Amino acid sequence: MNFFWEEFTMDMAWFDEMEGRIPHGEVRTRFAPSPTGYMHVGNLRTALYTWLIARHGNGKFILRIEDTDQGRLVEGATEIIYSTLRQCGLDWDEGPDVGGPVGPYIQTQRRELYGKYAQLLVEKGGAYYCFCEKTESEEDAGDFDRADDPCRDLPLEEARARVAAGEPYVIRQRIPRGGQTTFHDAVFGSITVDNDTLDDQVLIKRDGLPTYNFANVVDDHLMGITHVVRGSEYLSSAPKYNLLYESFGWEIPEYIHCSPVMRDAHNKMSKRHGDPSYEDLLAQGYLSPAVVNYVSLLGWAPKGENSEREFFTLQELSEVFDVAGISKSPAIFDREKLNYFNAHYLRAMAPEEFYAVAEPYLKEAVHAPQVDLKLLAPLVQGRCDTLRDIAPQVDFLDALPPYSNELYCHKKMKTNEENSLEALNAVLPVLEGLESWSYDAIHDALVGLAARLELKNGRIMWPVRTALSGKAVTPGGAVELCQLLGKEESLSRIRKGIQQLS
Ligand code: GLU
Repeated sequence: MNFFWEEFTMDMAWFDEMEGRIPHGEVRTRFAPSPTGYMHVGNLRTALYTWLIARHGNGKFILRIEDTDQGRLVEGATEIIYSTLRQCGLDWDEGPDVGGPVGPYIQTQRRELYGKYAQLLVEKGGAYYCFCEKTESEEDAGDFDRADDPCRDLPLEEARARVAAGEPYVIRQRIPRGGQTTFHDAVFGSITVDNDTLDDQVLIKRDGLPTYNFANVVDDHLMGITHVVRGSEYLSSAPKYNLLYESFGWEIPEYIHCSPVMRDAHNKMSKRHGDPSYEDLLAQGYLSPAVVNYVSLLGWAPKGENSEREFFTLQELSEVFDVAGISKSPAIFDREKLNYFNAHYLRAMAPEEFYAVAEPYLKEAVHAPQVDLKLLAPLVQGRCDTLRDIAPQVDFLDALPPYSNELYCHKKMKTNEENSLEALNAVLPVLEGLESWSYDAIHDALVGLAARLELKNGRIMWPVRTALSGKAVTPGGAVELCQLLGKEESLSRIRKGIQQLS
């Protein structure tokens, strides 16, 4: 019986060393995504709240990649996680790329360790080797009650002998029979369940890799995590996690389970339904700080003097964020509301900042070489919910669209087709004669003409703007459009207007 004993001898010094590495006395939170290739809004919110708790408490924010479910891995997914966090400003203190005192920070690189902890748990009576995996399907079909699993009561020596003989096995959690387990969640309060409703879940799979349910407990402990933020879909597993912590004799972290982000009253946001990821939102013309600000309020609300406030920078959020403000009710992702946030952020940008983000959109929409995009940008800045709203507003600059003469008729401006034709006929020689094509020169010429003819400015400006754009609404008025289009193109469009009205 001695031949396998060595294999199962616990190297307690190693466990002590692992314990010794755990940092204490600081807030430590972790974001633990699985690299499945898509940072959905709910994920981003979890990352944000997790980061905010760490920053609010002057603690550490840790990034851990949970890649033990090899079937769900997607190439490049870890890069999306990195880039999303970076673009959002959620910097991490420890993680796969930066290292840290309790690494490695990628679960597959911790593989050895879970096996050892599972063995320790077996030793402590909190888990057992199970050889009857074939009954899993029967269990699913309701033909087998795991409580009757003969492996649960196998003498440990016998189980070890079978393992040593090479028999495939899983390691399962031994849930106590009878009794109740209570856990506390900061959002949902205290929840008590009957142990008989909990299953002897698999901790170590046949391939030797841990399940999420085991790895998260071991890692959260070994990484010294003080606050666990995650989706409420994990609430039902929390009692089992508590039983694991108790079996190990470890301190249970504070749980903060967040309700899902919904696409409507009944459905969670999902990739399958085409709901946008963070990257999709950026591609749709949203600004990262606006998305982050909006997402912060999906299921959290500031309290006290800030209770009415909507706009926060990340830094401000880290000052005011408080777990007590997290709501139990699911939040609905509201595109209109996000637009409102985005419009606010766009308007609040300094002109150079706005130009930097708008430039690619302007370049894609306007090719006419004489149009100065730096002059155009401020004209659209206050008129966009998203950057995608730029193109349809400036499309007339490249080519005058066909338009109806009805556009010349404006009640308030007191313009009609007839007096518009008169106005354009009067404007044409004035502009033709202009030497400087500066804003002021154009402005003074048009205003001066209106004064000479004893007309209100609108009687001149409206027909000119219409002739230049062919649109009822434009960013900028007659003078700005003249300036943008340049002298030659402006005169040609005015001549075309005259022709069309004649
Ligand atoms: N890897 C899990 C997920 O992506 C993490 C859950 C947790 O934070 O514990 O859902």
